Amino acid sequence: MNIKDVVAVVTGGGSGLGAAAALALAQRGARLAIVDLDGEAAERSARRVNGLAISCDVSSAEQAEAAFATVEGELSTARILVNCAGIAIAGRTVSKDGPHPLDKFRKAVEVNLVGTFNMIRLFASHAQEAEPLEGGERGVIVNTASVAAYDGQVGQAAYAASKGGIVSMTLPIARDLSRAGIRVATIAPGIFRTPMMDVLPEEAQQSLGAQVPFPPRLGEPEEYARLVCHIVENQMLNGETIRLDGAIRMAPK
Ligand code: NAP
Repeated sequence: MNIKDVVAVVTGGGSGLGAAAALALAQRGARLAIVDLDGEAAERSARRVNGLAISCDVSSAEQAEAAFATVEGELSTARILVNCAGIAIAGRTVSKDGPHPLDKFRKAVEVNLVGTFNMIRLFASHAQEAEPLEGGERGVIVNTASVAAYDGQVGQAAYAASKGGIVSMTLPIARDLSRAGIRVATIAPGIFRTPMMDVLPEEAQQSLGAQVPFPPRLGEPEEYARLVCHIVENQMLNGETIRLDGAIRMAPK
């Protein structure tokens, strides 16, 4: 899909990987809607890309429906959806404090997996009604999983389950939406320098970066954003998850 002039919705677009993806799409001529739980972050990011800010919890059916109605009314039918909204929840299955709190496990799945599916189903219901573009294409969806979907570490059962679900649903969703000319692909990032990582001391970040075979550093959000743009532009990419990780395979801890 040619990115120029099409409407793109980026969830989690107020921060980190989402903000970088929004900027890269805007630089290639897309018109942006920035969806984020953090309304102020959405506003800041939207100002940077001359886009629309929408405060929304991606796991809420009502809020997400309202968000797509706003996009449709203010911009036009969205053709690109980038799902970046996510939370990192950590905790062992059983720790010295007892069994993993079930509500924390549910929360990770609710935001990361259910939230991603919620946005996909609503995006596709709008996009399938739009006129086909070049090659019969109506929409492109890019999801964000994690290498934890494959090599989840100690304390990552909830996070890995939520991200593994995103990887697993990528192919069936691509199959479901093929009739409408809507593609879906997922990126599984390794370790990227974003506010999610900023909570760690610089020393810990450097140590994490040094574990990456090559290049031995953290990924930059712009590198993630370039892959988002490539997926949008390359029509043969569909139903697949791409690891973007410098060949890292996470150790147990
Ligand atoms: P980030 O800087 O924390 O950005 C995530 C954004 O999503 C935040 O603005 C956050 O708002 C928002 N968000 C959280 N829950 C939401 C909800 N229910 N509805 C709407 N927005 C919500 O994190 P990031 O590092 O850019 O991560 C982006 C995605 O990449 C996440 O899915 C993450 O799991 C994945 N990922 C990141 C890395 C990495 O190394 N950074 C590696 C692998 C995968 P609040 O600040 O208000 O919570």
